[in-house]
Order: sequence, then structure tokens, then C-alpha cells
Amino acid sequence: MNHELTMNYEVNHRDIRESVARLCADFPGEYWRRCDRERAYPQAFVSALTEAGFLGALIPEAYGGSGLPLSAAAAILEEIHRAGCNAAACHAQMYTMGTLLRHGSEAQKQKYLPGIAAGRLRLQAFGVTEPDSGADTTSLRTTARREGDCYRVNGQKIWTSRAEYSDQMLLLCRTTPLKAVGKKTDGLSVLLVDLRGAGEKNLSVRPLRTMMNHSTTEVFFDDLAVPVENLVGEEGRGFHYILSGMNAERILIAAECIGDAKWFIEKSAAYANRRSVFNRPIGRNQGVQFPIARAYADMRAAELMVHEAARLYDRGGRPGEEANLAKLLAADASWAAAEVCMETHGGFGFAEEYDIERKYREARLYRTAPIPTNLILSYIAEHVLGMPRSY
Ligand SMILES: Cc1cc2nc3c(=O)[nH]c(=O)nc-3n(C[C@H](O)[C@H](O)[C@H](O)COP(=O)(O)OP(=O)(O)OC[C@H]3O[C@@H](n4cnc5c(N)ncnc54)[C@H](O)[C@@H]3O)c2cc1C
Repeated sequence: MNHELTMNYEVNHRDIRESVARLCADFPGEYWRRCDRERAYPQAFVSALTEAGFLGALIPEAYGGSGLPLSAAAAILEEIHRAGCNAAACHAQMYTMGTLLRHGSEAQKQKYLPGIAAGRLRLQAFGVTEPDSGADTTSLRTTARREGDCYRVNGQKIWTSRAEYSDQMLLLCRTTPLKAVGKKTDGLSVLLVDLRGAGEKNLSVRPLRTMMNHSTTEVFFDDLAVPVENLVGEEGRGFHYILSGMNAERILIAAECIGDAKWFIEKSAAYANRRSVFNRPIGRNQGVQFPIARAYADMRAAELMVHEAARLYDRGGRPGEEANLAKLLAADASWAAAEVCMETHGGFGFAEEYDIERKYREARLYRTAPIPTNLILSYIAEHVLGMPRSY
């Protein structure tokens, strides 16, 4: 792949990329295959990233982090995926922390952010989705009822990733009943829930086995007491706080997709050169090389959009359009590259030791989560092109 072409942007952070690549070299395919086989949390990898300070990249220096721009965090996540590793075990800490940073009180920031930056405290879990509310977030049913100096939380979350490996969870729940609010987006609040000791208090976490190793769970709240001081921002404004973090989340996930796409394309081109069938490399056939070239073109176009979204974000803008386009295009590009990689490898793409089938399973997620492709198209149709809301 032409590295000069892909390295020629202000958002590139070459030094950071090189350090991430060095760190990832200690976590080869065998490490990820073992975690995948045992459905184990990649603790050693997450610890190495934490110790190197990468997970505190976006936390301001005043709270012990590196105070880097979003483009640097995107570069970190992209390189992790480009190296064949997977940041899903810890990426949420980068963007869930943003809700606290933008909307938390000074006391909350002082209490949590230095610990997160130093790796003493994990804020990896983000509880929004419920069994009956995925894309339709505002219909969620988990409630928090004020009782003296605490909230009583009741309900259930699903797909709460990393809840077993996180000390705190950012929870979106309803504090004012739906029928008592004018708009569905009102009456929701964000609480910081201490997950430590789950099982011994009115909180239980049940792992959900999925097609890839993702440490995702169901979380049940049975009258759990959460101190009022754990409310982030104002009561009833939670949906707006979560929305304000979406652009960063979209851009970071898109960067991971670009890293995946690069990994698939590099593997494909190398194998197409190496594998000889009918006494010549398969890459000499246009039927093999054109799909790889097309995947590269799609990836590069998506990469430009990711860089543009990050650039606008780092300038203080709210690039809803670009962040959504970046996520859409990058998830499509990585999935197309995954398909091409499987195809290029023939039967060997299915062999575990090539890592392709694992990465293939992992790459599919981003067309569905954290937001499905259809919902991004709805956003573009409504908010960019001015068509009626379709739901
Ligand atoms: C492995 C994994 C990890 C996850 N981690 C987290 C997490 O940590 N925290 C969290 O809160 N959530 C998490 N999620 C949840 C994820 O964000 C949701 O799965 C996603 O938002 C979609 O919700 P849903 O699955 O309920 O799909 P639904 O909302 O039921 O939608 C089903 C399908 O219908 C389509 N659809 C729905 N409405 C429309 C419409 N109006 N127009 C067109 N198409 C429509 C969708 O695009 C989708 O394809 C995770 C999910 C997975 C699979």
C-alpha cells in the first residue's frame, strides 16, 4: 500500500501511529485467536494500552490525560485495527469519558478523570440499548426514581459491552415518565453507576455470547440505589448529553473501520502475489486484482471523510453530517474489504490460523453498532437533505 499517500495529512500523527504499531506487535494473531477461542477479555492488551497512556489520549492534561485532539485518538484506534488487533475491548472509554468531561460537574471530573487517565478506574461500559429499544433510544424503559439522596434504578439493558471489565457505567435512563414530558427526548438522564460488587447488590450482569469475542452483557437493575451526586449534568437532559458525544463516537469507530480495511487489503494484495494457481500468481488475474483495487479506492475515499470529520471536530465544530458519512462509508469500505479478503484467500480464508475469518466476523459489527447503517441514511435524508423523518 502506498504509505506516503495515506500519511500525508495534518491529522496523521505519525509518531503516535508508530508507537501504537510497536505496542501491537507484541499482540500477534495467536494472542487474538486464543482470546477468541476462549471468549476471554484481552486484558494484557488493554493493560498495555492503558500503561502507554493511549486510553487517556482525550482527557485534558489538567486531569492527568494527554489532552490530544480527536484526530490523534482516531489514529490510535486505526493503527490498532490495522495491526490486526481489536480496540473494542476498550475504545468506549475514549468517548464515554467525553460525556463526563462536557457535562459533569467539576467535582465529578476531579473524582473520576484522573483515575481513568492513570488507569486506576475503568469507564468502559455504556448502557443505552434495551431489549425493546435499540435504534429507537427514547422509548427505553429503565427508570430512575428519586428517593431522598439517591435514585432507585429499575430495568434492564442489553448489549452493554465490557460491563464485567469496567468499574463504572454511564447509564441512560428515564427520570420523568414518557407521558409527563412534551417530547420523547426529554425526561432522560445520565447516571454514573458503580459496577463493582455487581451480583452482591441489586445489580446483576449476564454475559451474552456473540459471533465474535466482544465481552458484551445484559445488565439487570432491581431497585439499585445510585447516589444523587452521580447524576451527570441536569436531570432530564440526558438524551442531549448522549447525542453530543455521538459525533466523536462515529468518527472513532470509522477510524477503526479504516484500520480494518487496510489490514484486509494488505493481506489480500500480499496473498494475491504469493499464491500461485495455474503456474502464476492469482494476483495476475484481473478478476482477483480489480476487487482488491476497488476495495482500496473505497477505503481511501472513506478515509478522506474520516479525516475531514476529525478536522472539523478538532476545530470546535459539530460535524454531524461528516461524522455520520464517515461512519457509513468506513463501515461499508471495511466490510467490502473483508469480503474481498475472504474471496482472495479461497479456502484458506476459512482457516483460523490466517486470522481472516476472525477479522471478518469482527468487521461486520460496525454496520449494525453503535448505529445501524439504515439509521445513518435516515439522518442524512432528514438532516442533510431536508426530507421528512421516516420514523
Ligand atoms: C456486539 C454488540 C455490542 C454492542 N454494544 C453496545 C453497548 O456497549 N452499549 C449499548 O448501549 N448498545 C450496544 N449495542 C447495541 C447497538 O447499539 C444496537 O444493536 C443498535 O443500536 C441497533 O439496535 P437493535 O439491535 O435493537 O436493532 P433495532 O433497532 O431493532 O433495528 C433492527 C433493524 O431494523 C432497522 N431499522 C429500525 N428502524 C428503522 C427505520 N426507521 N428505518 C429503516 N431501518 C430501520 C435497523 O437498521 C436494524 O437493521 C451493541 C450491539 C452489539 C451487537
